[in-house]
Amino acid sequence: MDHDVIIIGGGLVGMTLALALASGGVTSAVVDSADLDATLTTAFDGRASAIASASAAMFRTIGLGAMLDAHGCPIHRIRVSDGTTGKPLVFDALESDGPGSAGGGALGWMVENRHLRAGLLTAGRTTAAISLFAPASAAAIVRDAAGATVTLADGTVLTAPLVVAADGRRSKLREAAGIAVARWSYPQTAIVTMIEHERAHGNTAYELFYPTGPFAILPMLASDGGANRSAIVWTVENDAAPGTLKLGPRALAAEIGKRIGGLLGAVTVIAPPASYALGFHHAATYAAERLVLIGDAAHGIHPIAGQGLNMGLRDVAALAEVLVDSARLGLDLGAPAVTARYSAWRRLDNSMVGAVTDGLNRLFAIPGRAPAAVRRVGLAAVERIPLLKRRFMAEARGETGDRPKLLLGEAL
Ligand SMILES: Cc1cc2nc3c(=O)[nH]c(=O)nc-3n(C[C@H](O)[C@H](O)[C@H](O)COP(=O)(O)OP(=O)(O)OC[C@H]3O[C@@H](n4cnc5c(N)ncnc54)[C@H](O)[C@@H]3O)c2cc1C
Repeated sequence: MDHDVIIIGGGLVGMTLALALASGGVTSAVVDSADLDATLTTAFDGRASAIASASAAMFRTIGLGAMLDAHGCPIHRIRVSDGTTGKPLVFDALESDGPGSAGGGALGWMVENRHLRAGLLTAGRTTAAISLFAPASAAAIVRDAAGATVTLADGTVLTAPLVVAADGRRSKLREAAGIAVARWSYPQTAIVTMIEHERAHGNTAYELFYPTGPFAILPMLASDGGANRSAIVWTVENDAAPGTLKLGPRALAAEIGKRIGGLLGAVTVIAPPASYALGFHHAATYAAERLVLIGDAAHGIHPIAGQGLNMGLRDVAALAEVLVDSARLGLDLGAPAVTARYSAWRRLDNSMVGAVTDGLNRLFAIPGRAPAAVRRVGLAAVERIPLLKRRFMAEARGETGDRPKLLLGEAL
């Protein structure tokens, strides 16, 4: 076998896995059908991601600390409210710092996806244990008792005991393996853009709930000229999406202003809006013969709590630990016992996060005064019960469940 693992898909999750494996001495071939240099522009992906503090601890452990320090804006506070009315529920990082917390004063970091991609790609290209094939596509993949063979369209043949599907929500590998998927679409579209604003955000992420869907304002590092800057993820009903996308910068700023009230003062839109259809999907298993699924190939959720990528990064940390441990014991990395250990470790946790985000979206989508009153009582209750509040904050930081070493900031 010429590699320990073949990873199909070198996106945010696949490339992080290659680096995590390399940190534990496991080699990989990464195959991506895209020209990865072309994925580094805001035109390709203008989104920013909330990287939970546990995911950030893994990035630092595998050598991406400089990228986070240069481009990450710490989130010190999350303020949740039913629209702009009522008493908000405030999660403050300083309230939850304590032994075992990887926060260092932050619940997480906001990073533009183009910076995440650039940091990962540079590290992937300069790591000896990683062979990168991109743009390249797999013409044939054979998985059997003897091992896995991937033949690329140019005739290159790659062999390994295990193939990892990191090829996103429409995963061809998942489909070819016949793995069933539970899925549904939300009648909602996410509109993503970037704003500059008069008042400082104070490292606060705002999550405002409206019956049409949640509206998130996420703190970013200041613009080059020093202006205050935040990312917007605005969930609208599908019918409203085309009209919203057609709005010019001034009209869009006025609509955003209506929803966020005077929270940040005058607002200017600085990036053309992009839209994402929202859906939920979850694979029935993450393991098949000499194959495992990670990231969006395994699951996709509503972006209401900014957890989708973090779930994929938790898959990475668990899979890397299982494979590095197994390699040290001289085990076959594609053996059913190895792949089943990973699937069992991650599937339940991801099911729970998926169910909670789905439930939250539905709860806040119920229109009318009575449900709004119930929500306000609920928010106030969480605010008053320290144990419950700490639990939600640990969830936001990614510090719950049976955590793999990398998420604790420990090397493999
Ligand atoms: C509006 C919005 C906001 C979000 N905000 C957040 C957030 O704040 N925090 C968060 O944690 N998550 C967030 N998410 C979720 C997050 O963006 C995704 O979960 C994450 O990008 C998934 O990464 P991935 O690497 O698994 O998949 P992808 O990013 O889809 O990457 C798949 C890769 O595989 C390659 N590929 C595909 N098919 C093949 C093939 N056949 N052969 C070879 N290569 C192939 C592609 O070129 C690509 O590089 C958000 C999502 C949306 C829609």
